[in-house]
Amino acid sequence: TQETTDFLKEKLKETFGFSQFRGEQEDIIKNTLSGENTFVIMPTGAGKSLCYQMPAIAMEGTAIVISPLIALMKNQVDQMNAFGINAQFLNSSLNRAEMTKVKNAVISGDVKLLYIAPESLTKEDNLAFLKQAKISFVAIDEAHCISEWGHDFRPEYRRIRSIVESINIKLPIIALTATATPKVQQDIQKNLNMDDARLFKSSFNRKNLYYEIRAKRDDVDKQIIKYIKANHGKSGIIYCLSRKKVEEIANLLNVNGVRALPYHAGLDGDVRMANQEAFLNEETDVMVATIAFGMGIDKPDVRFVIHYDAPKSLEGYYQETGRAGRDGLDGTCIMFYAKEDINKLDKFNKDKTITERDTARMLLHEMVHYANLGTCRRRQLLNYFGEHVDKDCGFCDNCNKPTPKYKVEEAVVLALKT
Ligand code: ADP
Ligand code: MG
Repeated sequence: TQETTDFLKEKLKETFGFSQFRGEQEDIIKNTLSGENTFVIMPTGAGKSLCYQMPAIAMEGTAIVISPLIALMKNQVDQMNAFGINAQFLNSSLNRAEMTKVKNAVISGDVKLLYIAPESLTKEDNLAFLKQAKISFVAIDEAHCISEWGHDFRPEYRRIRSIVESINIKLPIIALTATATPKVQQDIQKNLNMDDARLFKSSFNRKNLYYEIRAKRDDVDKQIIKYIKANHGKSGIIYCLSRKKVEEIANLLNVNGVRALPYHAGLDGDVRMANQEAFLNEETDVMVATIAFGMGIDKPDVRFVIHYDAPKSLEGYYQETGRAGRDGLDGTCIMFYAKEDINKLDKFNKDKTITERDTARMLLHEMVHYANLGTCRRRQLLNYFGEHVDKDCGFCDNCNKPTPKYKVEEAVVLALKT
């Protein structure tokens, strides 16, 4: 109704300071408010969080937000608190006393959003607590974690549906992801038993991102330093495959006068947290990281994402590059590609079952194909997500130089596969 529309618009301005909804946000919010199930597939940076934050504010009780990473929860809770919304999280970073405090706050009805890790959700005493609380609805963020065809498979995500049902079968669910491949979409719907959900899917074209692949040669470090120096003071992320490489590149940058910090799962939790915060607060310019860094991190002005090593899949590539240019201004995505790296990635598959290995190799194969492409990168990338595009984008390396300077060699992994 018009009344709801006005109310939401007012809340949007009052709470978040935004003057209008983006894309389908408003319809998505209304769908949750009406008690229906919702499935949202929108690219990174599209503004998915607002789709559950708004109904959480507007509805009575506490919305449960299932989120896969502690860093991600903290990031969002801090943001909500800064907006004056009572949001809390429940995960393994809290001690017993802190947990009790959070639970009491929820039971008292003060909390609008409770972020919870899937592992915490499955704990017996938490379940008992959730049954007592007044829950408005359940949001499942990064819902692709349910699928092995996604890029961050989390087995606990597969238990969400039965747990939600045991809390209250009638709770509306909103599942959100930036993973658009048809396989992942099917997995999510099947696993959450959400065939009835209304689907909101928007285009995955990130028009403001420039895609570039460079052959990885001995001068890769020099090229990176040169690029960063030319973009001095801008915010960027460099993804490396190994923790060792992360440390090495972070050091190299520091020695060269670039403010850079490392981030990987081998670092202590508080160091990781501090480095992430330094990056968000502009105390450092470059985050050198493994893929442990970035999911859901909301830093709008990341101007470049560099892949020192090729990612395992195009899906991963799209997610990681998607962290650039979230504010809508230009972002540059450079990947350094060498066939040796693909073989290295394939070695990780050797202990897997045959089916798992085949899946991993198919994903890798798509990656190789993309890297070797002589035509518009964006068309290929969107094609992978089931989006057909008629025209070349004019904003990628291949569109800029119709004849590639180099020919990247086909990877050996393809020969291995047959
Ligand atoms: P996603 O989860 O889809 O990757 P986020 O929810 O993190 O994206 O939102 C990305 C950015 O867009 C955030 O900085 C957020 O504040 C901003 N944003 C979301 N909705 C709006 C809006 N209606 N108007 C302006 N900015 C918005
Ligand atoms: Mg998000």
